[in-house]
Amino acid sequence: MKTNLFRVEFFMAILMFALVFQLSRQAAAIASTPAVLSSSDPQPSASSQKPVVVLDSGHGGFDPGKISVDGSLEKDINLRIAQRVKQYLEASDVEVVMTRSTDAGLYRETDSNKKTADMRNRCQLINDASPDLTVSIHQNSYHEESVKGAQVFYYKSSENGKRLAEILQKRFDYVLGNENTRTAKANDSYYLLLHVKSPIVIVECGFLSNWSESALLNTDEYQDRLAWTIHMGIMEYLNTR
Ligand SMILES: [Zn+2]
Repeated sequence: MKTNLFRVEFFMAILMFALVFQLSRQAAAIASTPAVLSSSDPQPSASSQKPVVVLDSGHGGFDPGKISVDGSLEKDINLRIAQRVKQYLEASDVEVVMTRSTDAGLYRETDSNKKTADMRNRCQLINDASPDLTVSIHQNSYHEESVKGAQVFYYKSSENGKRLAEILQKRFDYVLGNENTRTAKANDSYYLLLHVKSPIVIVECGFLSNWSESALLNTDEYQDRLAWTIHMGIMEYLNTR
């Protein structure tokens, strides 16, 4: 009788141990379950459906781009406008890829031809991002001081590039007033236009060779106006495809 009772107690103890072991395993499995099962998390498919836009700030690093009559540098103005466009686009739920976010160009100090390396790497970065569109931001310069205004360039055989360029040009003409009556211009020789596979435009926001426009291009207010205009044009293009 005593022996039987001992056996029952021993058996119960083994059973309890097995039960506790099993429960702790289940608890560990639940704790290590990936968080993606939570319904409050954004679905991966939702984020990949966002339109992707590349903003290319022209020049950078050793390459200042055009130098203004007042000594300011094109590369700095390009980057400041691009950063503002980025903010507006992200607020409109667009995914933005920047070719550069600092002054640094896209080359290595050891590259024998930094300009060539920079342009090649820019195109590579844009093509790898396979964006819906790319806007390359630049400032212009001319040997006649009186010339001013914004102009948008597209690759001559790109229908989508042409459509984006015409939307942007129309908005620039409207925002910059009666004096800006330029039309979007086809081009077949710019390196970026030739080597980027998705729709791309080059936006020349204004002339650094013109004293009054150069002064405007260096103000926060005017940079913001240009950025808003570019952002609105991009949204119009994306929403009317
Ligand atoms: Zn430039």
